[in-house]
Amino acid sequence: MGDSAPQQEAPVERPELDAPPSKQPPPFGRRLGSDEFAVHENFPMKVESPSVRLGRRGRAHYYPDVSDADWNDWRWQFRHRVTTLDELVRRLPSVGADRAAREQVLADFRMGITPYYLSLVDADDPDDPVLRQVAPLFEEHLYRAVGEEDPLAEEKFSPVPGITHRYPDRVLMVLSNNCAIYCRYCTRKRTMYEGATADVEIDRMVDYIARTPSVRDVVVSGGDPLNFATAKLDAILTKLRAIPHLEIIRIGTRVPVALPQRIDDELCEMLARHHPLWINVHFNHPRELTADAARACDKLSRAGIPLNNQAVLLKGVNDDVATIKALCHGLMKMRVRPYYLYQCDPVRGAEHFRTTVAKGLEIIEGLRGHTSGLAIPTYVIDAPGGGGKIPIQPQYLLDYDREKGRALVRNYQGNVYEYVEPRGAHDEVLVPTPSKESAPVRLAGSNGKSAETPATSNGNGNGNGNGNGKNGHGDERVVGKSKWVHRGSTRSERAARFEKPKG
Ligand SMILES: *Cc1c(COP(=O)(O)O)cnc(C)c1O
Ligand code: SF4
Repeated sequence: MGDSAPQQEAPVERPELDAPPSKQPPPFGRRLGSDEFAVHENFPMKVESPSVRLGRRGRAHYYPDVSDADWNDWRWQFRHRVTTLDELVRRLPSVGADRAAREQVLADFRMGITPYYLSLVDADDPDDPVLRQVAPLFEEHLYRAVGEEDPLAEEKFSPVPGITHRYPDRVLMVLSNNCAIYCRYCTRKRTMYEGATADVEIDRMVDYIARTPSVRDVVVSGGDPLNFATAKLDAILTKLRAIPHLEIIRIGTRVPVALPQRIDDELCEMLARHHPLWINVHFNHPRELTADAARACDKLSRAGIPLNNQAVLLKGVNDDVATIKALCHGLMKMRVRPYYLYQCDPVRGAEHFRTTVAKGLEIIEGLRGHTSGLAIPTYVIDAPGGGGKIPIQPQYLLDYDREKGRALVRNYQGNVYEYVEPRGAHDEVLVPTPSKESAPVRLAGSNGKSAETPATSNGNGNGNGNGNGKNGHGDERVVGKSKWVHRGSTRSERAARFEKPKG
């Protein structure tokens, strides 16, 4: 089916892509006025980092002569992407340093920056976190030979080109090699050459899913599926939807981040015809949470599409608690649920973006308990060589005593608690016991100092567990008991508990 094929099942007239936004309210509830958006351009920076003063930036700085009509037209944005170093230097002279090195890395991996995304860059900050994601850096040249072409072995697990089938019930489907912006740390940069994926190849991918009944979930991901013309994407989704065993379709996209103008009513109406459809977006920094991005996410949400965010932990971009917290809080205000925080893959040319695992753990430690659980992503390492996503958590289970049926756990403040298993049930429970010889556990709030915690439960044998967990400041802390297991759950036990004391 070509782009111009008639839409048989579409009784309503559909506006052309280039037409001005329709006057009708979208079909999914009330339309928000622009002043009602809780998130606006520099909100998170104001709230979380009052000391950050941003320099020259914005559309007025980089593109003062562009009309509103052009600026808000995603086709204009797409056509005017900055793809050469010459143009980038013209708009942002600070990038002129180390020119030869930067040219060389562009020969390895192309650049693409929408005018909108460039406008988020602070022209006075040479280490700007938005710029760092998309501009060729000297560090990239330094490490250009370090890393893997295909760190996740996506091609080894590929039954047909474009499909990675790693898990039993779901597959990854890479439709194109075209993105609104090109992220310098992209795991899939090996595929980002010019030229489109042929339609027959896409048909072969769909065909693989159709003849593989175990697949109930497809992740259609970057190259960015929302870069397709609406009709073309519609045709692909229609083919996927015709597969009876395929329960859900997920789209992974950075378009709401890099080209939010693309999320128009026509696109949303088309996507809503393919439910159940989920979208994973990819915001990495609170400064990407603009009014335009909020509007794009709002439109998608109103089309009934649940939005989840997959961020990548990137050195020099978002590798501190305050930035990730501001990001997650801002996402929540846009009704986007933080889903994954990825450890940066060891992809070629991205060594300078990689952080230690300890850094990721520190960030999760700084969120859990300190903010809404809904705002905390799962921190994952996508295992090199193709092991899939592996969640990594700070250790909250300090000890598990299988014989006594007791777990020693700590909370976000470093307080230690004993949880007693249901009586008679602990034999069946398979919980790995942390090694008794393991290094001292670093407790929350310890400010980098390690504190000894009991490696075993206190073992006084009577189950009352007055332990001696300490927090990082060295205070004695009472070990809490699990309060509910002894209270009684029969009617008479409850009655006895609520009896008034005699007097
Ligand atoms: C990430 C990924 C998925 C989806 O993983 P979830 O944990 O279900 O979000 C599926 N297949 C591949 C190859 C992936 O990389
Ligand atoms: S948008 Fe996604 S697929 Fe495209 S370059 Fe960025 S990380 Fe890679």
